[in-house]
Amino acid sequence: MPGGILQEMTIDMFDGWRPEVVVIGVGSTEPHGPHLPYGTDFMIVDGIARRATIQANEQGGRVMQYPSLPVGCNVNFKPFPFAARMKVRTLMSLLGDIIEALEEDGVRKILLLNGHGGNTSVVEATLREHFERHPADPQGRRAFVCTFGTNRFVEPEVKAMLKHPSPHGGEDETARMMGLRPDLVRPEYFREFPIVPPSASGVAECHDNLMYVKPWHLFLPEAAGGETRTVTREMGERLVESAAKGLAEFMVRLSRAPWHANFPFDPPAGP
Ligand SMILES: [Zn+2]
Repeated sequence: MPGGILQEMTIDMFDGWRPEVVVIGVGSTEPHGPHLPYGTDFMIVDGIARRATIQANEQGGRVMQYPSLPVGCNVNFKPFPFAARMKVRTLMSLLGDIIEALEEDGVRKILLLNGHGGNTSVVEATLREHFERHPADPQGRRAFVCTFGTNRFVEPEVKAMLKHPSPHGGEDETARMMGLRPDLVRPEYFREFPIVPPSASGVAECHDNLMYVKPWHLFLPEAAGGETRTVTREMGERLVESAAKGLAEFMVRLSRAPWHANFPFDPPAGP
């Protein structure tokens, strides 16, 4: 039985094996302060999807990891050098094309595992567009496509190790990189990076739950925000392990759930 990592497979492995679930990491490449590499979001989403895919197949699932996307939506990062980005509509088209290609290959359960905050609303809009363009049909040819972030299944006691919230490049991301790629983390640069709140009356009071696109160079002038000196490698390993374990269990359950035209609701009534 193959490990399910498409880029490591050969064509004969598809003789008699087809994935029931496909997971696609939607990553990003942009600065994360002086202590983390540009590829942080990509490496986290790709690393967790990879571990979870291997575990899910060991547990009897039929799961395939599609190549993770290294570039996402970073329109608000322009003042920083080489914040890799594509336009909103390009990312939507790209994801839409990948979904349709997988449908042509017979895949009906697709997970877009998101690793970057700037991608969230774009991925969700893509799901709505896909739903609208492909009306449900009695053969059930429209894939079920869902999305969530890499931390979705981290157990509460593991999550509780994180004491310093950050929108970017803080305790959480730094820890997970320590768990996945400690060779690329520079602990000598760990400190509390400034998070600058907006000052305009009205916005300042409800900043936390107001959706707007923040100019990142004003909000996080050092391209990272929050405390990082609390991070340990053990914390990172536990966060990654917990995220991958929960994701693997989810994908095994999704893999085993019988497919029909009304998935994931009750099947259509028989004749
Ligand atoms: Zn990040």
